[in-house]
Amino acid sequence: MIYEQEMNVALAAVKKAAALCSQVQQKLITSETIIKKDKSPVTVADLGSQAVICLELLKHFGNDPIVAEEDVDTLRDNQNLSSRVHELVTTQISGITHTHMVEAVALGKQKVDFTKRYWTIDPIDGTKGFLRKDQYAIALSLIDHGQIVLGFLGCPNYAFDPNQPSGPGSIFYAVKGKGAFVQSLDTGKQREITSDSITEGRNAKFCESVESAHASHEEHAQIATALNISTPPFRIDSQAKYAAVARGDASIYLRLPRSSSYREKIWDHAAGAAIVEQAGGRVSDFSGKPLDFTCGETLEENIGIVATNGKIHEQVLDAIRSQIQSSRT
Ligand code: AMP
Ligand code: MG
Repeated sequence: MIYEQEMNVALAAVKKAAALCSQVQQKLITSETIIKKDKSPVTVADLGSQAVICLELLKHFGNDPIVAEEDVDTLRDNQNLSSRVHELVTTQISGITHTHMVEAVALGKQKVDFTKRYWTIDPIDGTKGFLRKDQYAIALSLIDHGQIVLGFLGCPNYAFDPNQPSGPGSIFYAVKGKGAFVQSLDTGKQREITSDSITEGRNAKFCESVESAHASHEEHAQIATALNISTPPFRIDSQAKYAAVARGDASIYLRLPRSSSYREKIWDHAAGAAIVEQAGGRVSDFSGKPLDFTCGETLEENIGIVATNGKIHEQVLDAIRSQIQSSRT
């Protein structure tokens, strides 16, 4: 299989990063004290997760450029933080020196030709969910000449078995042309996933961000009304929203930024978009244009995100056109 080695390395790397993040999240006392007094647990987990993934990519694909969210200066400026991150990283990869770890984290801000091959990492997507002890995702994807060929979402709190909501978490992944899969983070049990078969918008369940600052809940509600959707939105942090659409836990993911000047970050969408598309769904911006991952760190040419099961995509776009000012699409 093409990209087989990349697939195996990336899957293992995201699992290690997920174990590291779970370890930190379980030790959080209450989200309230942490948000008010000390944001460092999330910083430690973010940097640790980025370090683990970068180290694994560096070991196997040393020539590949990486675009990752976190900046190494955070580590360089704080010795205490840096030692805590190193300690955590060595729980997943033994024998790594502090210097090697810092070098690996720094790889995330290289100069990249976005029209060629590169990896993109969001070490903890959904930071707010992580602090609430709720949903978050470790996102990794490989983009080759504008095509997302591999996408991984480690979701330690998103149940592998929907009938067992407090059971083991999941890793969702997709390989271009091969489909989308979910694996238990606990047992490694795996199955293929497909988006649902709903053909009428009114029967759809839609998901959106928990954080109302990240997307316009009011405009999403107008679109839902135009589609005659009566069920309340499924609010969930991080790219777990894409996982929900890919597995049929929801049929639509809407994300219209509050500000028309906001451009989405590539690492917030590449992995999720690949998983939805390989599960039979469709992903576009609010005007129906495909997402363009060749522009840089942001989706410069796209406003808003619509991910659906595919079958109702045009209905959703029609509802958007009827409800949202043309300046927003
Ligand atoms: P979510 O968990 O879906 O609310 O999305 C989390 C992501 O929202 C983070 O990774 C940020 O990159 C992104 N984000 C931060 N500020 C904004 C904003 N003003 N509008 C849209 N997305 C944002
Ligand atoms: Mg993010």
